[in-house]
Amino acid sequence: MPKTASKEITLQGIGASPGICIGKAYLVDREGIYFVDKYHIPDLQIPEEIKRFKVAVKKATDELRAVIEKTPDELRQHTYILEAHIVLLKDKMFYGKTLETIQNEHVNAEWALKKVLSNIKSMFRNMSDSYLKERSADIVHVSDLIMNNLVGIQQVNIGNIDKRVILVTHDLSPAQTSQIQLEKIKGFITVRGGKASHTGIIARTLEIPAVLGVDAATRIIKNDDYLILDGYTGSVILHPSDRTLADYEERIMRFAEHKAEIRRESQILAKTADGLQIQVMGNIELPEEVASVVDYGGDGIGLYRTEFQYLSRPDFPTEFELFEKYKYVIEIMAPKPVTIRTLDINGDKATAASGDADEINPALGLRAIRYCLKKPEIFKTQLRAILRAAVFGNVRLLLPMISCIDEILEAKRLLDEAADDLKKAGLSYNRDIKIGIMIEVPSAVIMADVLAEYVDFFSIGTNDLIQYSLAIDRENIQVAYLYNVFNPAIIRMIRHTVTVAKDKGIPVFMCGEMAGDPINIPILLGLGLDELSMNPQSIPAVKNIIRSLTVEDTRLFLRDVLKQKSAADITDLVQKKYGIVSPEKIFAG
Ligand code: PEP
Ligand code: MG
Repeated sequence: MPKTASKEITLQGIGASPGICIGKAYLVDREGIYFVDKYHIPDLQIPEEIKRFKVAVKKATDELRAVIEKTPDELRQHTYILEAHIVLLKDKMFYGKTLETIQNEHVNAEWALKKVLSNIKSMFRNMSDSYLKERSADIVHVSDLIMNNLVGIQQVNIGNIDKRVILVTHDLSPAQTSQIQLEKIKGFITVRGGKASHTGIIARTLEIPAVLGVDAATRIIKNDDYLILDGYTGSVILHPSDRTLADYEERIMRFAEHKAEIRRESQILAKTADGLQIQVMGNIELPEEVASVVDYGGDGIGLYRTEFQYLSRPDFPTEFELFEKYKYVIEIMAPKPVTIRTLDINGDKATAASGDADEINPALGLRAIRYCLKKPEIFKTQLRAILRAAVFGNVRLLLPMISCIDEILEAKRLLDEAADDLKKAGLSYNRDIKIGIMIEVPSAVIMADVLAEYVDFFSIGTNDLIQYSLAIDRENIQVAYLYNVFNPAIIRMIRHTVTVAKDKGIPVFMCGEMAGDPINIPILLGLGLDELSMNPQSIPAVKNIIRSLTVEDTRLFLRDVLKQKSAADITDLVQKKYGIVSPEKIFAG
């Protein structure tokens, strides 16, 4: 339940991308399908607008009739719901009220429909009868049918938003999020998703403050509502009072000062107080983001998620297109390393072109390396592009979601084939690159000693490692409370991986979200990771924390951490020993 203080309402979600913004809400409704804008309809055009609405309703009725007719006899008993929807389409409370709203308020049909729907929904919500409450879902369904016909089913084009707003939506797909224009969107709030969802990751990369997992967001927040979005604490404050506003404006200023201070030193290498240098790298999704890694003082690219070049398009990119993108990043970073992770599609990042996205459980399906090994031609196209681009700098190849040795062997075989193809074609390439694997599936942790024999480095992906080992869907807010990097099982798995890697003489990195939160750094240093990779904007804060710690201290501290039995115990211990280590906590109020 939201807390209420006078008119001010605070909604709580998950602070997924730091920063505070203040502005007006812009709703992208119903799971991101529609943009509904309000516009004035002059007197003379009212009959035309009414006709437009009636035609949309008629079309919806015809569509439902067609579905009923096509339903096979054995399923006929279920069509009563559709019959009920046909009746509902002409219901006075719904149909009549929408016409009335167009007429009386001189607004467009979509807006009128949306308004009527939202009134009906709140009426139903207040009913105690659960059967009647359920009927509100039918009205939403019927309204969707009409809305489809009014606006035409369009996928949201976030890129079209032309005002400075805070986006409020049910969910954003990674493809939609990557269309966001920074100068237009101040921040965003979603109903779905958590810190490790790709929406959260992209928000952090774009440096857009974001609060995800706000259950009631699209129900309670209305278009143009004035609000404060606090990406540190995960709070959304609707209709803030003057006092709250003044308080937040002050926080925004303090944070800007602090950020400027730590940024000034961020081009310098990060050495602990007792002299150990830790590589602090940047994660990128798009080639253009390489600039912010340089800007924030990254020591290289620890994770280049290449799948984003495959999203938002109907076909697969060509070898040359990929080669150009990789070369761009590699040349800018040279001689610093660029870790190119091969395609990690499906899971929550389906492409239009892959055509295989229809899986009941995509996170456990034909994702990442599994997909690539099933489609060797697509995989080899990417491998050739990487080998060609590797001529221009320092490249590492990273294979995602490895769960057994066979996948490594097969990927290496295809890499050799890709090199052969290039040789035959007389193109220059560099096969002499380091090959590593993501450690993000529990079986890879358990078999780390064997896998280490076949690769040059490990990179721990905590986002998926947590998802797969604690059985938590990283996109599901119902179980987000379990998603905790301090779960002792996770700490022990990381420890095992690091111990094995050191034993086998290969370096071990971390590129999951755990590496980018300053509060985790004492534990990660104690665990002995060689390199940490994160969203570029986290680099200055992480470097800052590293400088304040000694390895010796963190190792001793880790001994205590390993004795703890729960995530809460570890959190307490970290807080007691290091107090406020996260600037996000400093500014949390
Ligand atoms: C991870 O799983 O931790 C990771 C870095 O990969 P992604 O978030 O792209 O799945
Ligand atoms: Mg992963």
